[in-house]
Amino acid sequence: MERLKNFINGEFATPAEGKYLDKIAPSTGEKIYELPDSTEVDVVQAVKAAQGAFEGWADTPIAERSRIMSRVADLIDLKRDELALAEAIDVGKPLELAKSLDMNRAALNFRFFAAALLNKTEMATDMDGDAINYTLRQPIGVAGLIAPWNLPLYLMSWKIAPAIACGNTVVCKPSEWTSKTCFLLAPLLNEAGVPKGVVNFIFGKGDPVGSYLVKHPGVPLISFTGGTATGEKIQTMAAPYVKKVSMELGGKNATLVMKDVDIAKVVPQIARASFLNSGEICLCGSKILVQEDIYEEFCKQLAAHVDQLVVGDPVDSKTFMGPLVSKQHYDKVLSLLDLAKKEGGKVIAGGARPDLGGAMKNGYFLRPTLIKDLTNCSEIHQTEIFGPVVTINSFKYPHEAVKWANNSPYGLSASVWTKSLTTAHKVAADLKVGTVWINTWLKRDLRVPFGGQKASGIGREGGAHSFDFYTETKTVCVQLGGV
Ligand code: NAD
Repeated sequence: MERLKNFINGEFATPAEGKYLDKIAPSTGEKIYELPDSTEVDVVQAVKAAQGAFEGWADTPIAERSRIMSRVADLIDLKRDELALAEAIDVGKPLELAKSLDMNRAALNFRFFAAALLNKTEMATDMDGDAINYTLRQPIGVAGLIAPWNLPLYLMSWKIAPAIACGNTVVCKPSEWTSKTCFLLAPLLNEAGVPKGVVNFIFGKGDPVGSYLVKHPGVPLISFTGGTATGEKIQTMAAPYVKKVSMELGGKNATLVMKDVDIAKVVPQIARASFLNSGEICLCGSKILVQEDIYEEFCKQLAAHVDQLVVGDPVDSKTFMGPLVSKQHYDKVLSLLDLAKKEGGKVIAGGARPDLGGAMKNGYFLRPTLIKDLTNCSEIHQTEIFGPVVTINSFKYPHEAVKWANNSPYGLSASVWTKSLTTAHKVAADLKVGTVWINTWLKRDLRVPFGGQKASGIGREGGAHSFDFYTETKTVCVQLGGV
C-alpha cells in the first residue's frame, strides 16, 4: 500500500511518530493509500526549514523568483494528466473537470503571480517638493497555508503562488481527505528550482497539524480556506499572537432568475452552477430563486435536465458528477436532505442513490437533487449543504429575491440571470456578497478581488489584493534638503 510522506526542506520525510491515516477512495469506499498522521514535531521541523530558507528567498531577485515559478507552472502542465487523475480519484471529481478546471488553474496560479510580480509597482507621493513618501512591500516570513478538499491543488496553489512570489516561505497543510496532488507537486518544485525549505507540506488532521501551525509563534500569517466553524477556531487561536489572517469560508449562494430569460438557454448553465463538482464548490448556487411568471415551467425544464445528468465513475468521460468526497460528508448531506423533506420540501429531481453496481456499489454517490417550495425561514435555507442538494423557490419582484438571497449568515457569491441591464445592476448592487455574476457563473479573472462578506470570510485575495495580504507595507517619508 502506498504511503505518502511529508515534504520538509526539499526532502520527503516520514512523520516523527511514524503514524499514518487511511485514505478511502470516494467512488469505491476502498482504502487506496496512507498519509502521515503528523504531529507538532513535524510542524516544528517544517517551520524551522521555512524560517531557514526565508532570508535567501526574500533576497532572490524578483526576475529569478518569477522564472522559477513559471517553471513550476510548466511542470504542472507537463504532468497535467497524472495530477488530474490523482485529483479525480482523491476527490471523486470527473477526470475531465480535474484537467480543465483544477490543473489548468493550478498552473495558471503560478504563471499569473510569476508575471504579476514583474509588473508590481508602488505608490509615491510628492508633498509640494518639500518631502516625498514612498512605500515598500516587504515579505513577512513564514506563511501557514491551510486548504480544503474540494479543489485541493487549485486552492493550495492559489495560496502558495502569491505567498512565494512576495518572498515569503510557506508551510502547507492540505486536507487529510485529499493529500495526493500536493504530495505529487513536491518533486516538481525541486525540479523547477524552488530552493529547499521555501515550500513545505505537512499531511495530517486539522487538529493537531493545522492548529499547531496556527499557534506556532514563528508563523506570522495564516491563509485559510475551509468551513466557517473552522475559520472561527483559527481566528481564536491566532488572536493572542495578533497574526495576519485571511479567511475564505463557506457560502450559501443564491441564483436569481428573472422572468425575461430564455429558459432553455439558461437551464443547462444553472444546472452546472448548482451541481458542478457534486455541488462541492463554495461558489455553487444552492438556492435558486425564480420569478413567479416562469417558475413552474422553469422547474419542469430544470428537473428534466438534471435527471439526465450522468452520475458515475469519475474516470469515465461521460460522467458529469462523481461521488461525494467521504462517508462522513455523504452522511451529512443525506441528513440535510432528510431535514429538507421533513421541513416540507418536495423533491422534483434526484433525491436518491444512482443505480451503480460493481466496483462503485459502495461509493458515496447521490443523484443531483432539486427541492421545491421550502419556506424562506426553513433551516435548509440557512445551512451550507456543500453537496448536490439545491432548493428552488419563486418570487414576485426582484427586490423580494434580493431579500431572500441576503437572508443568510453567508455572503460569498450570487448569480443573476436577466436580459435587463437595469435589473441586473440594481440587484448586483443590493446583494450582500463578495462576488456577483451576471448571466454567467464561475468566470474567474485572477486580477479581481475575491472573498466573502459576513460569515463567508475576511479579506480579499487575487491580483494586487494577494500582494497586500502577503506583504507588510512600509511607508518611508523623505524630507528634501532636511540636513
Ligand atoms: P474544513 O474547515 O473542515 O477544513 C479545511 C482545512 O482546515 C483542512 O485542511 C482541515 O484539515 C483544516 N482544519 C480543520 N480543523 C482545523 C483546526 N482546528 N485548525 C487548523 N486547521 C484545521 O473544511 P472542508 O470540509 O475541508 O472544506 C469545505 C468548506 O470549505 C466549505 O464550507 C466550503 O464552502 C469552504 N470553501 C470555501 C472556499 C472559499 O473560497 N470561500 C473555497 C473552497 C471551500
